Amino acid sequence: MRARLGGKARAMSKPSSVLIMGAGLGGLTAALALMQRGFKVRVYEQAEILIETGAGLTLPSTSMRVFDALGVWKRVRDVSADAARMAFLHYQTLELLHGTYNYAWTQKPNSPDQAGHAHRAAIHGILAEEVARRDPGALILGRRVQHVAQDENAVRATFENGETAEGDILIGADGLRSATFRSVFGADNPARFTGVIAIRCMIPRDKRIEPYLADGRAVKYVGVKRGFVRYGLNNGTLVNCVGLARTDSWREEGWMHPCSREDFLELYADFHRDVRGLIEHAPQGRIFKWALYAREPLSSWTKDRVTMLGDAAHPMLPYLGQGATAAIEDALVLARALETHDDYSDAFKSYESERLTRTTAQMRASERQGEALNRGPGEYNELRPSQTLLSGYDPRTVPV
Ligand SMILES: Cc1cc2nc3c(=O)[nH]c(=O)nc-3n(C[C@H](O)[C@H](O)[C@H](O)COP(=O)(O)OP(=O)(O)OC[C@H]3O[C@@H](n4cnc5c(N)ncnc54)[C@H](O)[C@@H]3O)c2cc1C
Repeated sequence: MRARLGGKARAMSKPSSVLIMGAGLGGLTAALALMQRGFKVRVYEQAEILIETGAGLTLPSTSMRVFDALGVWKRVRDVSADAARMAFLHYQTLELLHGTYNYAWTQKPNSPDQAGHAHRAAIHGILAEEVARRDPGALILGRRVQHVAQDENAVRATFENGETAEGDILIGADGLRSATFRSVFGADNPARFTGVIAIRCMIPRDKRIEPYLADGRAVKYVGVKRGFVRYGLNNGTLVNCVGLARTDSWREEGWMHPCSREDFLELYADFHRDVRGLIEHAPQGRIFKWALYAREPLSSWTKDRVTMLGDAAHPMLPYLGQGATAAIEDALVLARALETHDDYSDAFKSYESERLTRTTAQMRASERQGEALNRGPGEYNELRPSQTLLSGYDPRTVPV
């Protein structure tokens, strides 16, 4: 099959057809924002079916404002928990190092200016449903992009199954190991193993784990070269746990590598029993790990008819919960730029210059936070990420 969106290529540069590679949070948000503005969009996703993947995500107000602009904030709020407060505790003594306790397990964000915690699958599901509601043919599954080529008239994606799709412009939203990036720029965005791995699981909140939850809904335990975060999800019925630990034992990138409960526990053996008790109840077979790789911020991620967004453009270390929001912010700013400018190359320039400064700051701040975590509780106490960075940005109104 060879699909050509939008008919014959036009001399004018305003794109009538947009191809998006990857239906993660960034790709789906971009699809929705573009459809809202009248663009014809096709999203190509490698997965054959959209299964419930991932665990908890932080959604700072900067992403909630995007959901507000897209008309889905109320749905997002209904599956989120208020993340305005979190207690940062010493990993052994439970001394409060920073932040405040939050005992409100079922409190939801009150407005789009408030951050939330939510299950990645719930947010992904809302976005996918909205995309399908606007255009049932917009999301095409089982298409793994291998190659992207362009000329003065069009851009063409070739998929692993031999099919091709053609459009006026293409957005690479295919995540960490972006095939779009590799194809367009000739090599992977270089990555360096940080020596840290992340481990995640979700534990049903029942009476067996209640004794370990005395400090409230959202807690970060700060240890030496290791941290452990937990917060409630799904109206307080699940506890999302993530450990970030320095270790040389393993170094695979990717979201679905299994980890045993014993290995998880071993890394946290000297943590307070509130942490060890939770790990002891982590569901075997539902614990996943991934190695953290750092990338240098790029000076550009656009080439002619192709631009990138989200992890494909600026993968973030997870220490400040900025990864998902950066992709979601990109999506709205890019759609607004394409709506504002008649020429897609002006739109790409405007999008990139607006987003480069902010995503570089998000990457640097996340890396600094990770370094402080590695040094241990004493140093961590001194570190205060800028609130302007975390919540002062509004993708609905930044100039494009
Ligand atoms: C399965 C999965 C689970 C995750 N779990 C968590 C989690 O628990 N906690 C957390 O903080 N973050 C998680 N993330 C990452 C988080 O969603 C992203 O870091 C962030 O949202 C940035 O989004 P993105 O859209 O740029 O990338 P992603 O959300 O990674 O989306 C990229 C999309 O592109 C698709 N794709 C990749 N290669 C190709 C290709 N060649 N052709 C077509 N499609 C392709 C992927 O299948 C995916 O759907 C997960 C990501 C995935 C894919």
